[in-house]
Amino acid sequence: MFDSLRNKLSSFVSSIVGKAEEKPTEPTIAPKPAPEEKPAVRPPIAQEISRPEPIQVEPEPVFEKPTAVVKAIPEKQVHPEPAPISKPVYEPARVEPAPAAQSVVKQSAPARVEPERLKPAQVAPARPVERQEIQLAPKVGLLKRVTSLFSPEIELTGAEVAPAIHELEMALLESDVSYDAASFLASDLRSRLAGKRVNKARAGEEIKAVVRESLLKTMKVEQFDLFNYLAAVKAKGEVGIVLFVGPNGSGKTTTIAKLAKHLQDKGISTVIAAGDTFRRAAIEQVQLHGDKLGIRVVKHAYGADPTAVAFDAIAHAKANGIACVLIDTAGRQETNYNLVKEMEKMDRVLHPHLKIFVGEAIAGNALVEQVKKFNSAIKLDGIILTKLDCDAKGGGALSIAYETKLPVLFIGVGQEYDDLRPFDAEWIVDNVFAAG
Ligand code: GDP
Repeated sequence: MFDSLRNKLSSFVSSIVGKAEEKPTEPTIAPKPAPEEKPAVRPPIAQEISRPEPIQVEPEPVFEKPTAVVKAIPEKQVHPEPAPISKPVYEPARVEPAPAAQSVVKQSAPARVEPERLKPAQVAPARPVERQEIQLAPKVGLLKRVTSLFSPEIELTGAEVAPAIHELEMALLESDVSYDAASFLASDLRSRLAGKRVNKARAGEEIKAVVRESLLKTMKVEQFDLFNYLAAVKAKGEVGIVLFVGPNGSGKTTTIAKLAKHLQDKGISTVIAAGDTFRRAAIEQVQLHGDKLGIRVVKHAYGADPTAVAFDAIAHAKANGIACVLIDTAGRQETNYNLVKEMEKMDRVLHPHLKIFVGEAIAGNALVEQVKKFNSAIKLDGIILTKLDCDAKGGGALSIAYETKLPVLFIGVGQEYDDLRPFDAEWIVDNVFAAG
């Protein structure tokens, strides 16, 4: 479970820890080397390029555009006579510049020099700068070494954490985290990590704690306790009506059976309406679960109107003092017009207390789109995310709440009746950070 997310987040933590470790410890009292120092010890630019080495300071050759060069030549100083515009520019270059007129020659003289001679590295006089840096470095290093004995903290800068956060964002997208959720997580991490002071010895734990906070914030959505809610409906003397919708094979029938067992364990009795009349096998499958759990299943013939099946189940519950009706429906894609219309009709006619979308975590990014479409057809009350046990990526669980703002009520973590857990963001984060 969550293997991909786990790997990606742990390499993110390691990369930030790496940054922290390679960075020299900077206690608050340690004076930082002022960045202004370097420019101060460099010779002025004009000075650099006016060194009497004509070959090094030759301008760029401009053979292709002679007219431009002609314009640039200060005529008084270079040409004894104004050169006609049509005259080839390279001719005046034969005039040897007097040493005193170097700056003029630099701007104007077309060169016969090979272009590689004009590399900037050759222009800059390196020696004086190097001498200054060699003098400064030991002073700063020594000061840092001494003061770091008193404070083991370092401060992470925005620039230092930015590449790792960018990489994490890309990695999250690969793990099926939705674009918006990944961007939110990245920007939350950026604001938490930039400028953060971390203890070098505990950098790993401290950064993990920050990532943990960000993950929890991304998954944070209003919680909803289905058991309490249905107990309250029962207390009002109403039959709780719960409609389950979702794509084919997402785990609706299995989830209904798991939930029926959990409700039964909590003293809330149920009846199941076999509303997936679209598939003969689906009716048999529900009946099988009902038999195993000792729960009544109300069913009609294959192809019957699912709303009618649900009506009968509600009537049965009312007549027998059963607290809750769980209505199975045919799986449908959000794009299937007729089936979506049928779902809207069930919603209008049955007035369910709760409409729950059952989707599989392994659907990845498609899951978010499905929920959005179903939600716009019949306003959903919550989501049950199945097959987390088979979801190597984990992105769906991370982004679904952020994207839909709907409560995730339960997660399915296997095929047994007990493999249904209340959704708990902390549990997911613990699993993401658990040793693989
Ligand atoms: P439906 O078509 O939406 O009603 O889906 P089903 O309930 O028939 O489930 C389809 C398959 O998914 C079945 O083989 C289930 O056992 C399996 N399934 C459902 N939930 C889970 C789960 O949380 N984990 C795993 N591994 N399999 C599940």
